[in-house]
Amino acid sequence: MDLAILFVKLGIAAIWGVVVGLLARRKNRNPWTWGLAGVLSWFIALIVLAFKSYQCPKCEFELTNEQGRAKTCPFCGPIGTGQVGAEPAA
Ligand SMILES: [Zn+2]
Repeated sequence: MDLAILFVKLGIAAIWGVVVGLLARRKNRNPWTWGLAGVLSWFIALIVLAFKSYQCPKCEFELTNEQGRAKTCPFCGPIGTGQVGAEPAA
């Protein structure tokens, strides 16, 4: 029975790891690092992540929430929408 409880706890920890990882990815942060943090201590990881701002994936500039939602970096322009300065259709 103890082994079953252990597996349940591991499963729950893994789910939290995925949840925290996905939330981190939405903020352009490393999903693996945050996922691991979520497995170790999902509660602390969620709180810390909630206070972390969006981050530009290119220059790692800390974006404001408005810039993060608009996916626009003041230095790189639009982010997360494929290539910047995409070639116009021929
Ligand atoms: Zn940038």
